[in-house]
Amino acid sequence: MKYAIPSWDIPSVPVAGTDFAFPVRHIYCVGRNYAEHAKEMGGDAAKEPPFFFTKPADAIVPVVPPAVADVQYPMATKNYHHEIELVVAIGGRGAGIAPERAEALIYGYAVGLDMTRRDLQSAMREIKRPWDIGKSFAQAAPIGPIHRVAEVGHPKRGRIGLEVNGTIRQQGDLSDMIWDVPHMLHFLSQYYELLPGDLVFTGTWDAFAGLAERHNGVWGGCWCTWFHLHPDPPERREIGNREFKRRLVEQGRTHAALVFDGDVAVAWAQ
Ligand code: MN
Repeated sequence: MKYAIPSWDIPSVPVAGTDFAFPVRHIYCVGRNYAEHAKEMGGDAAKEPPFFFTKPADAIVPVVPPAVADVQYPMATKNYHHEIELVVAIGGRGAGIAPERAEALIYGYAVGLDMTRRDLQSAMREIKRPWDIGKSFAQAAPIGPIHRVAEVGHPKRGRIGLEVNGTIRQQGDLSDMIWDVPHMLHFLSQYYELLPGDLVFTGTWDAFAGLAERHNGVWGGCWCTWFHLHPDPPERREIGNREFKRRLVEQGRTHAALVFDGDVAVAWAQ
């Protein structure tokens, strides 16, 4: 293919335990899929159907522990939020999928951040305009490696959380989702044909918080997440989260799936 302008690499996410990368086609995100977050955002926690928004593929920032990632602070916001979420990687194809057939389409799972310019999202929502500018922009979806279903199965419960500078900022349990992954894919596939390479961010739950005090143009310190694809391994209870995470990374067992660590310099775009 001869392109009229210089081309770029297909955005992709490394697959844990392999030399392969998962090419990213389209990023879907689910809004308000945990009761607490729905309340925080002024919604009803009852089981109304999930709703969806999207991010562009250039939102992907793959992060493989113990490597670190530089993420730009985006333009035009003063209130930049993180939402830590389970991410579903689609390997099959289908539309109008019944919930009981949905898991057959899943290639694997990762943990990722739905980064949000909350002030822009809120302002657009108030005047009933689309809030894409709050959600869809470059580097708005940092993500850890994809763990294959063949390795980890389909996690239904298990803790998922985010630390910022050593302080737990978000933590929850996958079992608290309002809609489980099969039902989410069922709803989503009423509107879009799911295709290999699609990612689905499955929503966050509570206590998201702003990241964003300025520190002379640099975020120092640690920004990392931990995520257990299996519920509460006894080992973790014995030695504590921090030590458990350190050992996993040291052993190359990257259940601590997404890590920003060390002296991460973040360029401010403003
Ligand atoms: Mn979200």
